[in-house]
Amino acid sequence: MKITLAHGSGGQSTKELIEKIFAASYKNPVLDMMEDSAVVGGSAKIAVTTDSFVVNPLFFKGGNIGRLAVCGTVNDLLMRGATPKYLTSAFIIEEGAELSELKLIAASMAQAAREAGVIIVAGDTKVIEGKGGIYINTSGVGFVEGDDYASFKCTQGDAIIVSGSLGDHHAAILSHRMNIKNDIASDVAPLCDIVKNLQNSGVEVHAMRDITRGGLGTVLNELADASGKCFELSESAIPVNPQVKSFVKLLGLNIMHMGNEGKLVAVVSKKDAEKALEIIKNSKYGKDAAIVGYVSSGNGVVMETSLGGKKKVGILIGEGLPRIC
Ligand code: MG
Repeated sequence: MKITLAHGSGGQSTKELIEKIFAASYKNPVLDMMEDSAVVGGSAKIAVTTDSFVVNPLFFKGGNIGRLAVCGTVNDLLMRGATPKYLTSAFIIEEGAELSELKLIAASMAQAAREAGVIIVAGDTKVIEGKGGIYINTSGVGFVEGDDYASFKCTQGDAIIVSGSLGDHHAAILSHRMNIKNDIASDVAPLCDIVKNLQNSGVEVHAMRDITRGGLGTVLNELADASGKCFELSESAIPVNPQVKSFVKLLGLNIMHMGNEGKLVAVVSKKDAEKALEIIKNSKYGKDAAIVGYVSSGNGVVMETSLGGKKKVGILIGEGLPRIC
């Protein structure tokens, strides 16, 4: 069965769509009240974020737009040192979308939300003319109980730790679109376990970013700009899975500008570097973590290449890969 404009009318069809798919998947006492807004408990400091998801294709190896929409927002909350609590879920659906696919997407969102320990407390559904596309916006709220992480806190001597192999999501999406057969799967995942374990250990984390659109190169340039420091990397230390490495070579891509959806970079006090690395390695989704460099005085991002020279790493210029998330 396909979605029609009637599903967005606000009438009986909309009611059925919401009850049968979204409310049934997300089920929790706050959402179940079906009021005009959700009333939830709070905290002295909260983190708030929003993100829209337009990934093409909707289903890809390792995930789908629903899992991505939850993980992307949950991870942005985590990166400030917040504990994710509540999400909203707004769908813009083009007529002709498959009802069965919408069901799978909502189920994935519910599953990812459970994994991340958040509840979806509010939502919206609109149907527009089109060719069956599905777009999702998720907003999220998290509680900040301890120190918040921020780019400006990066300090000379800090260790730069990435939580695993780069480029997986990017390579999975591009493989799908180019119809290249391989086993590369998106790494899309909520990074709660890594962040929670770091927080519980008392390790001094200064800043954290999820490595999404624009890749590690872009993220580190943002941290370098905000902190007025230089980020020095060692190319040989950067984890890349072998299949992604060959894929990158084959297509002449730059791994430093390729996005992930389940990886983070943490900037950690030098004294805690080894401890933090072990904690991340022993956390869910962190087994391939590595210290990839250090923060020094100066500015920008510099990488010592595998051949021994040094090169500047810039931010992604141009469109990169459109609709990757
Ligand atoms: Mg982010």
